[in-house]
This record gives sequence, structure tokens and C-alpha cells, in this order.
Amino acid sequence: MIHHRVKGHVVGDKFREILNQADRENRTYLVEHECKEILEGMGISTTGHLVARSEDEAAEISNTIRYPVVLKIVSPDVVHKSDADGVKLNLKNEEEVRRTYRDIVSAFRYQRVMGVSVQKMARPGIEAIIGVTRDPSFGRVLMFGLGGVFVEVLKDVTFRILPVTEKDVTDMIEEIKGYPLLKGYRGHAVDIPALKQLLLKISDLVTKFPEIKELDLNPVFLYPSGNMVVDARMFIGEFTEEATVKSDKAQNLHGLFYPDSIAVFGASNSEGKLGYNVFRNLLFHQFKGRLYPINPKSEYVQGIKAYKRITEVGEPVDLAIVVVPADAVPQVVEDCCKIGVRFIVVETAGFAETGEDGKKVQAKIKKIIEQSCCRVLGPNCSGVINTHHNMVQSIGLIGELGKGNIGLIAQAGVYAAGILTGLRHIMDFGIVATIGNKMDISETDILEYLGEDDHIDVIAMYMEDVKSGRRFIDVANRVTKKKPIIVLKSGRTEAGKKAVSSHTSSLAGDDQINSAAFRQSGIIRARNNEHMFDLTKAFAKQPIPRSDGVLVITYSGSLGVAATDMLHLNGMRRPLN
Ligand code: ADP
Ligand code: MG
Repeated sequence: MIHHRVKGHVVGDKFREILNQADRENRTYLVEHECKEILEGMGISTTGHLVARSEDEAAEISNTIRYPVVLKIVSPDVVHKSDADGVKLNLKNEEEVRRTYRDIVSAFRYQRVMGVSVQKMARPGIEAIIGVTRDPSFGRVLMFGLGGVFVEVLKDVTFRILPVTEKDVTDMIEEIKGYPLLKGYRGHAVDIPALKQLLLKISDLVTKFPEIKELDLNPVFLYPSGNMVVDARMFIGEFTEEATVKSDKAQNLHGLFYPDSIAVFGASNSEGKLGYNVFRNLLFHQFKGRLYPINPKSEYVQGIKAYKRITEVGEPVDLAIVVVPADAVPQVVEDCCKIGVRFIVVETAGFAETGEDGKKVQAKIKKIIEQSCCRVLGPNCSGVINTHHNMVQSIGLIGELGKGNIGLIAQAGVYAAGILTGLRHIMDFGIVATIGNKMDISETDILEYLGEDDHIDVIAMYMEDVKSGRRFIDVANRVTKKKPIIVLKSGRTEAGKKAVSSHTSSLAGDDQINSAAFRQSGIIRARNNEHMFDLTKAFAKQPIPRSDGVLVITYSGSLGVAATDMLHLNGMRRPLN
């Protein structure tokens, strides 16, 4: 059964009726005339949704809507109607309609025929394609492109995460390579305001009806005045919560970055052990708060009094760092929750990333923290660094660090260890947070926090996958208004798991969706590590430029000309003044 959320509304009622019909016929998609009826209910122009079940009916409809008309096969077995020779254009009179009706019925006699669609023949226009598909991390996305060779050969399409704003649809239209064709050449032009309205209505439609999983409007004819949907198809399914769920324990992460006291589980006296490094880093960088090594075998760790269990500390502990073996972690987390530790940084590896056993342990931890108010960073990470709080939790020994205004969020621990070691002479960081398996605290939570932290002016992110993509976009959208965000996204989402059904789906590469999502939220996407850190350093050293112009300073005119040429070749320009 398919569930419905809209009640008492005309479009809602019609939609439900059509869905129920599809449900009875075990269809997971809607055919052209059904889609067009829904679209018309949204105030979208189409070539019509009437279906004839007999020759007489076809003639009658044709006489009413006026010639020329188009007949099309309506069958659950025919996906590409024109490939199957099921589209007959430009029928000029009743006789042609009757003959064509008989031809279609006879040609498709071995298929299930629901009827023959009789519709207006649309005036030629510029062909566009509009679609909706799903992305595993961002949920549903809107696609727009020009039809024919533009989409098939040039793949000239653009995406945005749904729902879209007016600015988003403006950007989409202006972004495609074929935009000059829409803007007009030699007097031809397309009604761009009407096109924007159409895109916004599609966004409204799928927002209103989460049962619409994918959609293809292919083609839509664009005119100097208005537009017309010529063909439509939708894939439907059970309504599932999209990747927008907000963390229900959303709370300020300030305490994660500025704790007054830290317990370190697994803090060690043996050089070379990770538990040695983590504790060494805290001491070496002169963490100002209280430190409690937790180690059942030593009385002192690196000169600091140790405790067998955290429950013996007898004072409040703000944050715990965990470097004990994976199977010991659930007990540790339980103890921490018991004494009211707010943040637990699990640096230990060997959890969900290693297979089933690790996943089980991770699930166990999740269960424990669900019943308390503590939050977990990691597992499988290299902790947090906050130079403004003299706090370095890395698993690799880190030399002296300057105090800077750069925030860095990284899925991989190496960014707070090896990479940082190389970078610390080149640029100064404020906060570095590694998130590892992000079983609880995600990149978005940290991004939201860094957006508010006054020590941070620019944020760099290295990520492999995005959790709750829609929330990430919303948060990034807010943060980029104040601080630049530069993202290096590597690795690919599991494209294979996505059921490719619509044409739109087949055009939607995961990476294209990522780029679209970043653009939509004002994020700058870096090509590689070098690019990311170059951009970050540049932004860290100057106020945010007010325009996209580049100032060239040189003592030689010819070098100025050469520099200007290079700017142009790379899509930049000198400031307009
Ligand atoms: P399919 O995509 O299933 O093959 P379409 O309904 O898109 O079938 O029809 C194929 C092509 O025929 C369209 O791309 C369009 O160029 C043309 N066409 C279809 N319907 C009409 C119409 N009502 N008016 C004008 N042209 C049409
Ligand atoms: Mg089509």
C-alpha cells in the first residue's frame, strides 16, 4: 500500500486516485496520461491527458481538441513509445485518426493495451528535459537540460538538491552550456520566467508527494511565451523518510572543543603505543585543564596520577578519550555515561569499518549512548585539536602548533596526524576535528559548530561520504554566508545500489550530484589536497573578497598582461571598477 499525506486537496485527491489505480495494477510507475493529469492539476501546461478506448472515442476527442492531433500507445509494456513505433504525429483529420487508431491497436495486439492517448500536436519549440531522481546521501534531486543531442551526446544537464529555491533554478538555467540558446540568438528566445515557474512547480509537486521517487518530463517544449510538457513518466513507491533527519540530540558541541577536564582510557607509559602518543600530545601542548589517565596497571602515567576506572576519579570529567581495544570500549562508554561525561572521543579502530563483529560492537555503543546525554566522536578517528585551548588529542606525536583561524574537518585521522605534521610549518590551524566512522557526531554537526566558533574564519573539509545530505546542505548554506567552506570530496557513494530506472537516473552521476550540492550551498570544491589547502590558506589570510575579481600587482606591464590572460583562461577576471 502506498501512503498519502495530502488530504482534501484537488490535486491530492486526483493523485491518490491515480496511485491507487497503479497500486491495483501492481505498477511502480505512472504512464504518460496519468502524469499529465497530475501536472495539469499543478497548473502545468501539457499536450493533454485524454485516452481513447475505441476508434469512435478517438475521433470524438480529436474533433473536440482540434487538429492536428497526436496518437500514442498507452501500455504498461511499452516504455519507449516512439522506439516501438507507438507515437503518431501530425494527424490532420478524423479519417487519419480512425485509420491510425486501428493501426496502433493491431500493431500492439500482443501487448497489454490500456488505450490510445489522443493529444494536441504541440508547436515546435526548444526541447528541454526535466527530471527528478534520488541520491543515496542527498535524497531527491532535480535535473534540467536541453533535449536531443544536448542531453544524449553532450550530457549538458545540471542538478540541484530538492526542494529548490528561485535562485537555484536561475542558476540551473544559466549554468547549462546551451543557455545562450535559451537567452536568444537572432530573435529566438525562450520564456525564462515561465521555465523557472515550471521548475519550481516540479519541486513543489515532489515535495508535496514524497511517493514520487523519480520523474522524467522528456521532452518539454520551450516557447518564446510559455512552455508545454509533451511526454511524462513517474516512478512511485512507498514514502520513505528522506535523508533529512536531524540529530535528535542536537546540542552545542562547545564542550567537545573546550573541555575543562579530560580522562584518557588507555593512556600509557610505553613509548610507541597510541595511548602513549595521545597522552604525550596533551602534556606536550600544555593542556590547561585537568587530566586523568585511566590505566588499571600503572599508578602514574607520564608523571600524572592514574586511575583504575573513571568511577574512581571522584570529580566531574567533561570529556573522555578512548584508546583501548574495540571490545573493551562498550564498558568504558557505559562507565563514562554513568558519571555524566558529555563527550567521548573513541580513537580506537576495529569497528564498523572492519566487518560484522566490529559493526556489532559499534551497535552496542550506540545503544548505550541512546539512553544517556553523552555524545560520541568516532570511532576510528584521531580526535580533536584546538590550538586555542592547547588541546591535541592526535594518535601521532605532533610538534609545536601555531594558533590560527582555520577549521579542518576530516573523515580520515591522518589529517590530524601525518598531514598536519607536514602542514604545521605552512599554515596555522585553530580547530581540527577528525570524525572517523561518525557513528554519532557527524561532519554536519561539527560544521554547524565551527560556523559559530569565533576563532575560526575559514573551514576546510575532507570527506568520503556525506551523512544526511539535505541537512548538510542547509547547514553549509548558513555557514557559507559568514565563512568560506572548502571541500575535498573523495571516494564515491554506492552508486550500484541505486535502482536506475528513469532516464534522469541514468544521467545522474554521483559525483555530479555532489558538485551540484556543493554549488547550491556556496561550498568551494577543491580538486585535491594541495588545492584545498592553498584555497584555505588564501582565505585565512585576508577578508572575504566582495566580488570575484582578481587584483594583479606587478612591476612590469607585460607580466600584468600575461597574468590577465591566465586569469581569463582560468575563468577569472580582474575586478570591475
Ligand atoms: P517516447 O519518449 O516514449 O518515445 P514521446 O511521447 O516522448 O515518446 O514522443 C516521442 C517524440 O515525439 C517526442 O520527443 C516529440 O518530439 C514528439 N511528440 C510526442 N508527442 C508530441 C506532441 N503531442 N506534439 C508534438 N510532438 C510530439
Ligand atoms: Mg519521451
